[in-house]
Amino acid sequence: MSPKTVRDVYNCFVIPEEKLKKNGYLYFESESSNRAEFMKNDKWSNFAFMSDEDNTRKCSRCSRLFNRKSTFSYPNLCQFHPLKREIINGFVYHLCCLQRVGTSKGCTTHSFHVHQQPSEKILEEFVQTPKPASSRDYRSNKIFALDVEMIHTEDGLEAGRISLVDREGRIMIDEYIRPEGKIIHLNTQFSGIQEFHLENAKSLKQIHQLLFQFVNRSTLLIGHGLSNDLKVLRLVHLNVIDTGLLEDSSNGRMPSLKALARKWLNKEIQNTHEGHDSIEDAITCLDIVEVFIECHCPDLSVDV
Ligand SMILES: [Zn+2]
Ligand SMILES: [Zn+2]
Repeated sequence: MSPKTVRDVYNCFVIPEEKLKKNGYLYFESESSNRAEFMKNDKWSNFAFMSDEDNTRKCSRCSRLFNRKSTFSYPNLCQFHPLKREIINGFVYHLCCLQRVGTSKGCTTHSFHVHQQPSEKILEEFVQTPKPASSRDYRSNKIFALDVEMIHTEDGLEAGRISLVDREGRIMIDEYIRPEGKIIHLNTQFSGIQEFHLENAKSLKQIHQLLFQFVNRSTLLIGHGLSNDLKVLRLVHLNVIDTGLLEDSSNGRMPSLKALARKWLNKEIQNTHEGHDSIEDAITCLDIVEVFIECHCPDLSVDV
C-alpha cells in the first residue's frame, strides 16, 4: 500500500457538502445555474439575504431597525459595545469597557447603522471556483488557508482584504479589495483596514482572476467560518475544512477562532489594537487543523 499523502490525510477531515450547506455555505443547483442558492436563511440572523424590495435592515451593532436607503440622508445614533461579552467571577461583562451587561446601551457611538443583510440580487454575482483544467491540474492537490477582512458598506459586509497562505505559511496572496458599495465604516478595530490601504486596491473581479491561479474546485481551502469569507468574495466553493465545524458545538453556536486557538494551540490571538490580521488568522486555522488531525489520527502516516 502506498503511503498516504498529506492531502489524503486532510481529505478525511473535509466537511461534507450537506453539512456545509446547512451551515450557510452557498451552492449552485446545477452547472448551468446563474444564481447561487442557500439552505439556511434566518431573516434576522447574521448574514441573511433580503428580498430586493425589502429595505428594512437590523443594525448588527445596536440591533435597531433602519431603512438602508436613508442611511446617509438621515444619520442615526448607533450606540453599541464593540467587543464581546465574557463571564468574569459569575457576572457578565462587556470586554470593551468592562461595564456589566444591562447597565449601559453602549460605550461607543457612530453616526450610521451597519448591517449584514445584502439584497438577494447579489446571488446572481456569484461564481464557482473553476473546474480542474485536466487530471494533472497543479491546483487540484493544493491546500490553502483563506481569510478575508470585511468592511461595512451600504450593501452590507464587503471584502476589504484577502489573504491566501499555504501549509508552509508562505503568503500566496495578500491584497486589499475595493468595495462596490459606498463605505459606511471601515471597521478598522476588527479589520485592520485603513483608508490608505484602499487607494490602490483591486476590484473583486481582479481578485477572482488572481485567486483562480492557485485555486480550482478541487483545491482544499481551510478557514474559520469560511462561508462568510466566500460570501463576500461572491464565490461558491465546497471543498473545505472549516475549523468552526470540525466539532459539533454543544450550544449550536460556532466557537470563535480565538477560543479554538486557546483550546488547540494554547495560543492567544487577536489581542492587538490594530485589528485582526488576516495572515495571522489564516495561519492559526492551518495550525488548528494540523493539531486536530494529529490528535484524532496519531497513527496516520504522512509522507510529505
Ligand atoms: Zn446601530
Ligand atoms: Zn463597551
